[in-house]
Amino acid sequence: MSAGPRGEGVDPGPGLEPLDLEAIRAQFPILQRSIEGEPLIYLDTAASAQKPDAVIEAIRTYYRREHANVHRGVHHLSALATSRYEEARRIAQRFLNAPQAHEIVFVRGTSEAINLVASSWGQRLEPGDEIVLSTLEHHSNIVPWQLLAQRSGAVIRVIPVHDDGSIDLEAYGSLLSPRAKMVALVHVSNALGTVLPIRRMAAMAREVGARVLVDGAQATVHGPVDVAELGCDFYAFSGHKVYGPTGIGILWGRGELLEQMPPYQGGGEMIAHVSFGGSTYAAPPARFEAGTPHIAGAVGLGVALDWLADLGRDRVAASEARVLAHGTRLLSQISGLRLVGTAADKAGVLSFVVDGVHPQDLATLLDEQGIAVRTGHHCAEPAMERFGLTGTVRASLGVYTTEAELDVLAEGIERAVRILR
Ligand code: PMP
Repeated sequence: MSAGPRGEGVDPGPGLEPLDLEAIRAQFPILQRSIEGEPLIYLDTAASAQKPDAVIEAIRTYYRREHANVHRGVHHLSALATSRYEEARRIAQRFLNAPQAHEIVFVRGTSEAINLVASSWGQRLEPGDEIVLSTLEHHSNIVPWQLLAQRSGAVIRVIPVHDDGSIDLEAYGSLLSPRAKMVALVHVSNALGTVLPIRRMAAMAREVGARVLVDGAQATVHGPVDVAELGCDFYAFSGHKVYGPTGIGILWGRGELLEQMPPYQGGGEMIAHVSFGGSTYAAPPARFEAGTPHIAGAVGLGVALDWLADLGRDRVAASEARVLAHGTRLLSQISGLRLVGTAADKAGVLSFVVDGVHPQDLATLLDEQGIAVRTGHHCAEPAMERFGLTGTVRASLGVYTTEAELDVLAEGIERAVRILR
C-alpha cells in the first residue's frame, strides 16, 4: 500500500532510519514492570496499546493546571481547556490528512463512531437497500449495521475471504450493485492482521454510488493513514489503540455528509437554539458532541498522535513489518502450529492455533512466563467461523515490540506445548 499500514513482505524502502526500540521502550513505564517475577512481554497491543510518558504527563498536567469546561466560559481556564481541546482536533485532522478540522468528531471510540454513522446517516436507508460488510469485521462494525437493518429493512451482504485471509475482490465486485448504499470495511483485521485494499475497494464502491466507512481501529497504530487518498467517506478509530487514553476516539466524515446528517444524541453543546416549540442544531462537529466531552482524553490523544507522527509513521510501519516477519518465521517453524491469516499484506498480528492444545490453556501458561497474549474469537466470530475455529491465540505487536520478545514467545509456546500435550 502506498499510504496505509504496511505489512509483512513490504520493503521498508531505502533511506528509512531504523527506530531505536530501546529508547522507545524506555518511554513506556509499564514495560519496566514484571509479571509473575518475569519481565513483562506485552503482546496485546491490538486490544489496547500501552501509554508513553508523554501521554501520561500531558493528562496529569491538564488536570493539575488547565482543566475547566470547554466552549462555555469566558474565564482564562475555560479558554485554555477549549484551545487544548480544539488543538487536539487539528492534530487528528493532520494525522488523517482530513481536509477540514470541523470534519473531526470526538467520540468514545471506534464503536461509538460506527454507531453514530449507522444511527444518523443510516436514517436515509430504505427497505431493500444494501449494506456491504466483509467476513473479517469486528462485531463493532457488524452489530450497529444489523440494528440499522432491523430498523430500516435494509439487507446486509457479506464479502467472503480467501484461505489466507485476504479479501475475495472478485466476489466483492459481483455483489456490489446500485442497491448498495454503504460499504463498511475494517482497514486492518484485528483477528488476522489482514490489510484490506481500501483504496481499490472504495473506488469500486463509488462506481455504484455507495458510501464507504472504514474501521481504522487497528490501522492508525501501524502506519500512515490518509483519508483523502483512501477515498472513503467516514474513518473511525480509537485513542486507546494508538498509544492514547481510553474513552476517546475519532470519527472523520466528509464535510458535506456530516452537514446533512441529523443529530445522534441530544444535549448541551449540540444545539443552536432550544425552545419548547422545537430546537435547532449546531453545525458539525458540535452537532455530534452532546454534553461535556472527554477533554483530558482529547488532550492525551492529541499528544499520542503527535508522538507517533514524530517517530515517523513510515518508519514505524517498516520497523513493525520487520518484527512481524521475524515472528512469522519463528512461529511457522513450531511443529503443529498453524498461523491463521497469512495474507501478503498484513500488519501487527500473529493469530494461531496449535494442534491438540486449547488456546486458553496455552495463554495461561504463557502468562505464567510474563507473556501477555489474547485468546478467543477477538470479537470477530464470523471470521473465526470462516476458518472453522472458535478462537485463536493472538500475539499483537506495537512499536515497542522487539524481535527478542518474539524469540521468548516462541520458546514459551514450545515449553507450554510440551507441558500441555
Ligand atoms: N474494530 C476493530 C478492528 C477493533 O479491533 C476494535 C477493538 N478491538 C474495535 C473496532 C472496537 O474498538 P473500541 O472497543 O475501542 O470501540
